[in-house]
Amino acid sequence: MSGTETQTPPMALDIEEPTTPPSPVMYLNGKMGDVADAKLSVIDHGFLYGDGIFEGIRAYGGKVWKLDEHLDRLYKSAHVLLIEMPITKQEMRQVVREALRANGLRDAYIRVTVTRGTGLGLDPKHIQGATVAIMPSKLSLYPQEMYDAGLDVITVSTRVARPDSWEVRVKSTGKYLNNIMAKSEANRMGAGEGLMLNMEGYVAEATGDNIFVISGNRILTPPPSAGILEGITRMVTMDIANTSGYRVIEQNMTLFDVYTADEVFLTGTAAEMIPVRSVDGRTIGAGKPGPITKRLIEKFHARTKSEGVPIED
Ligand code: PMP
Repeated sequence: MSGTETQTPPMALDIEEPTTPPSPVMYLNGKMGDVADAKLSVIDHGFLYGDGIFEGIRAYGGKVWKLDEHLDRLYKSAHVLLIEMPITKQEMRQVVREALRANGLRDAYIRVTVTRGTGLGLDPKHIQGATVAIMPSKLSLYPQEMYDAGLDVITVSTRVARPDSWEVRVKSTGKYLNNIMAKSEANRMGAGEGLMLNMEGYVAEATGDNIFVISGNRILTPPPSAGILEGITRMVTMDIANTSGYRVIEQNMTLFDVYTADEVFLTGTAAEMIPVRSVDGRTIGAGKPGPITKRLIEKFHARTKSEGVPIED
């Protein structure tokens, strides 16, 4: 595309805005009930301070994709932030599947949210009983045209926080104020996604996705120390690429590396793998999804079809 054309932003990339089934049911603090009746305290630390963690998980064709990896990341986040989980990982694994069964969903996006609990004031020792909410929903993705044609991406003015700030490496709710502002900036400028740099000016990630850059037969992606969330789709992509004969290198890169790449794509649970056709008005490669990206996407879909934890017992 030409540098001046813009792309209609996605109507509802569901990452934080999923649509719900007709009579949705969710798990909240030990009980399964109607979403409409679910109530949280106004002194919940998640509400007061954004003090919580979450996961967005997907189910494909009756199987939960990378469930254990998501729960490992959730419990690791809780450990780092000293949030006491009221149920075990094994119990959480059962409840996620039960919530999907209760909604009759086989293809879904499941939002697991945990907050520190209730209480006013900052000191965690005054905060009681973590809140656990598990809400499955139907998925609404980027429009298919964006997968076919590739996304237009712009670099946004909001930077990811320093990698040593608490909210960066854990999937914390507090982190997302930056990402919400970044996403809003990208969409207001007519782009499908926003690319965020870190404080040093290196490329970090998109607002809800990791980034991969292909130059020749080298595939580059920023390292965790760039201040990225270590995406589960990123991990799967690295595995698919490495086992398909490509060399994936975790390396700091600047916008120069992105603008001059042969191919660029983003990865995330909700977006899966999505090609990028332009960044800041620079056409990437041939301005359409490239051959290596397409090959990796095919292999990714083959895995989501065949792997996963069955929803049914
Ligand atoms: N980076 C950010 C900031 C994210 O919010 C996400 C998840 N939406 C990702 C990367 C991708 O992570 P995953 O593949 O685990 O969904």
